[in-house]
Formats: sequence, structure tokens, C-alpha cells
Amino acid sequence: MVVISVPCMNGGRGEASYAKNSDIQRTVISKAWPFLEETIKDTFSSSFPGCFNVADLGCSSGPNTFLVISKIIETIHKLYHQVNKKLPEFQVFLNDLPGNDFNSIFESLPDFYKRIKKDKFGPCFIAGMPGSFYERLFQSRSINFIHSSYSVHWLSKVPENLETNKRNIYITKSSPPSVCQAFLEQFQRDFSAFLSLRSEEIVSGGRMFLTFIGRSIADPSSKDCCRLWELLTKALIQLVNEGLVEEADVDSFNLPCYFPCEEEVKSIVREQGSFILDTFESFEVNWDPSDDVNNKSFVFNKDRCGQNVANSIRAVTEPTLASHFGNAVIDPLFARFATLVAEHLAVEKTKHISLVISMTRKQHAQP
Ligand code: SAH
Repeated sequence: MVVISVPCMNGGRGEASYAKNSDIQRTVISKAWPFLEETIKDTFSSSFPGCFNVADLGCSSGPNTFLVISKIIETIHKLYHQVNKKLPEFQVFLNDLPGNDFNSIFESLPDFYKRIKKDKFGPCFIAGMPGSFYERLFQSRSINFIHSSYSVHWLSKVPENLETNKRNIYITKSSPPSVCQAFLEQFQRDFSAFLSLRSEEIVSGGRMFLTFIGRSIADPSSKDCCRLWELLTKALIQLVNEGLVEEADVDSFNLPCYFPCEEEVKSIVREQGSFILDTFESFEVNWDPSDDVNNKSFVFNKDRCGQNVANSIRAVTEPTLASHFGNAVIDPLFARFATLVAEHLAVEKTKHISLVISMTRKQHAQP
């Protein structure tokens, strides 16, 4: 059994909640949408099942939870209409860790059902599926389509053997090779297990569509995946210098995340062997998603951008950081982090790299 030591995002609907600070993930969903739409169209190019089981893994809670599901259902409906088929019934499983704010999701269900009824969508039944996606979640060969956005870069646990990664919380330019290797091996174990668990649950020919943070080059200390965490480390070291955080606590903390490059992902899919990789794409996203060339009303203000980035990173890391450093450090830590990010963005607009993969389950072996 895998022991999960990764806390969830900030729940609720307060100022620091994930629900209020998930713009970047919403931007990622919309940038990945054309690829997802392509995958859905391809899935229904030849067969039109009467019942369709979908799972969203790492659904969190907030406006994004129903965004992808609504888009998937809407697209499938259009496809069925085009060929005059009776609309399918949907069973949708929303999965996240048991500590996720499922209450908020369930409270917003009546609105979701009302909306899809108004749009004349067919029957759709939503169920919560609490559990780790590094464990079995569903019955064998029961799921037609699996989606997951911005979740599988979270590992099942912090890698072991990181004692030499002192004064760092992720890989950096100065990390010894053993540290890079420890992170990579944990990702290889986790992602391979993820594929093999899903391969049991998905039907032959079923699809899986994943978007997650990666990096653009083979060097694991690439700035697109490391710079942001170096700034968070810098903020922690400032607190050490001010006597608010113990240096030993920084030395022993590491993020349970990994941001792979293209070849690492492809080789795990190839070696695990259950899926055909149909699509591999990548795109950039600004740390502050409102800083967008298409956003005509955007005027760069380094302090506002620094604060926006700090809010979004706080929403996804606060429970992890608070369980290690204590709640009292969170406000001062993110105040300093916001300033460091602002100074950095004034000089250089480093971006996140998002990887998108779409896969098809190979035929299951006959029993
Ligand atoms: N898909 C949402 C949320 C992304 S945040 C969106 O795009 O907005 C990442 C989510 O993955 C968090 O809610 C976190 O709790 C969840 N997560 C991380 N590790 C997980 C695991 N092992 N099993 C299930 N969910 C996990």
C-alpha cells in the first residue's frame, strides 16, 4: 500500500482558498482544450456508446472542478447530435485525496445539474471518489475516459535520500546528481504505477488525457521548473535569518513534486507498455496568468503580479508547508515571496511549461 504524505490544496472559499486562486489552472485548462477536443472527437469517430463513464483525477474544489466536465459533456453531445444518435448517459467520477473539500463540490452540484438541464444535456450522474490516484480507484475495465489537469506532477511522497539537498526545497543548479536522481526515480515509480493502475480500470481503446507541469529541456535544474521554488527557498532563508524558521527545518523539507521533460515521460509510457501515446504537446503559461498578450486591459505592475503569483502558490502549497514549518510562518513567508517574485518578474518573465499527453489503452489480453 502506498502511504500518501501529500496534503491537499487550501479548501473552502476564503481569500487564500484554491477556489479563489486557481486562475492559472483555469488558463491551462483553456490552453489544453483544443487538444482535449481533438481527443474526444477522435474517441467518437467510430463508436457511440449509450453509457459513458468519465473520471477527473485531482479535481480539487472550485470553479475548475466542473469546467472540464461541462466542456467534455457539451462536446460529446454535439458529436452525437451530428450523427443523430440518442444522447448517452454520463457517470462522472470526481477524484481527489480524501482531505479535499468534497463538501464544497457537492454543495455546488444542484447548480451544475440545473445548468446542464437548461442546456438540454442528457442524464449525468456525478459521484465523488476520494482516494489517491496512486491506488486503485475504480472497477476493472469500467472507465471510458480519464482526464487529469495539473495533478500528476504531485508525487505520492517526498523522495528518499535527499539529505544532501540542504537549504533547497527542490532541484537547483547546485543540487548534487544524487538529488536529481532521487526525484526522477520517485517520479518514474509513481507515474509508472499510475499508468498501470489506470490500465486496469480503463476499457480497451479507452482514452486518458493528462496535463501537468514539466520542463522544456533535459537539464532537471532548468529555470522554467526551478526558478519559482528557488524564490520560495530564498524567502524561507530570509525567515531563517530573522529567527522565524529553524535552518534544520529548511534542510529537511523537500517538495513532493517532479516536473519531467518530454523524453522522461515518453520513456515511462513506452516501458510501462499499456498505452499508445497519441499526442504529446507543450505550451507556456505566465506565472501570473492575467499577464497575457491577449488581455488588452493588462498593465504590468510588478507588485500586483508578485502578489498574484504568491496567492496561487500559497493555495497549492500552504497545507504542505504549514504541516512542516507551522501555521505562523505562512503569512510572513508569502509576503517575502511576493516581493521576491515581483523583483524577479521585473527583470525576467520566466514561464511554466505545461505538458499535454493523450493516450489510448491497448487491447486488454484475453482472460
Ligand atoms: N484539476 C484541478 C486541480 C489541480 S490542483 C484544476 O485544474 O484546477 C492538483 C490537485 O491534485 C489537488 O486538488 C490535489 O489534492 C490533487 N492530488 C495531488 N495528489 C493526488 C493523489 N495522489 N491522488 C488524488 N489527487 C491528488
